[in-house]
Amino acid sequence: MDNGPETRKLEPETGSAAGAPCARLQAVQARIARAADEAGCDPATVALLAVSKTFGAAAVRAVAACGQREFGENYLQEALEKQAELRDPTLVWHFIGPIQSNKTRAIAENFSWVHSVDRLKIAERLSAQRPPGFPPLQVCIEVNVSGEASKGGVGPAELPALAGAVSRLPGLQLRGLMAIPAPTPDVAAQRAAFGQVRELFDSLRARGHGLDTLSMGMSGDLEAAILEGATIVRIGTALFGERNYLG
Ligand SMILES: *Cc1c(COP(=O)(O)O)cnc(C)c1O
Repeated sequence: MDNGPETRKLEPETGSAAGAPCARLQAVQARIARAADEAGCDPATVALLAVSKTFGAAAVRAVAACGQREFGENYLQEALEKQAELRDPTLVWHFIGPIQSNKTRAIAENFSWVHSVDRLKIAERLSAQRPPGFPPLQVCIEVNVSGEASKGGVGPAELPALAGAVSRLPGLQLRGLMAIPAPTPDVAAQRAAFGQVRELFDSLRARGHGLDTLSMGMSGDLEAAILEGATIVRIGTALFGERNYLG
C-alpha cells in the first residue's frame, strides 16, 4: 500500500497509463468472471472497486465513461479535489486509506463507504459527523491477519468487540470486513490469508451480525480473494496502470 504525503502531485492525465481504459476495465471484469466461475459463484456477486489514487480526474472520467461507478481513494485531499473537479453525482466514492481523527468529518461528509475502520474512536467520530439526512455511512472493519505491526487493521482477537461497538453506532452501517494481506506471489499463501478473513467474517455472522461484504483482493491477487469469498475487489494498477508518485 502506498503511504505518501497528501500533498503529492497527481500524475499527468496524459501519462502512458491513460491508454485504452475500456479495454483494461473489460480485462479486469473478465478476470473477475473467470475467478467467480471457478469459485462456483455468480460474477454479479463480486463488485469491482476502481482504485484511482494518484490518477487525476480525467483518468476517473475515462473509466466512468466505460460504465464503472464505484471508485476508491486513499488520500483525503486528493480525493476531494477529484470529486470537486468531476462533480458527477452518479459516482460512488469509497474511502480505503488510513484515517486520522482530524479527517473524519470530511470523510463522513464526502464518501458513501469507508473500508478502513480499525478503531472505535474513528468509528464514533464518523458516526457523529455523518450529516443528518444522509444515509448511514457503509463501513467495513479492516482486519490485520498478517500480524504486521506496521500495517493498519484490528487484530483478530479484538475484532468481535470492535464489531459489536461499531454495529451500535447510528451513523454507520457495518457491512463487513476489509483486509490487505502481505503481498506474495504464492497463490496458496494468498488463499490462506484471505481464508482467515473469511473465517472471521463467518464467525461474526454466526454471532448475529448481518454482514454481506468481504472487501479483499487487489490487482495481483483478486483470483485468490474471489475463491475465498470476496464480494468487493479493489483494483488500481490493472485498471489505471502503474502508479507514479511525482514531486
Ligand atoms: C492501492 C490500493 C489498492 C489497489 O492496489 P493495486 O495493486 O494497484 O490493484 C487496493 N486497496 C487498497 C487499500 C489500496 O491502498
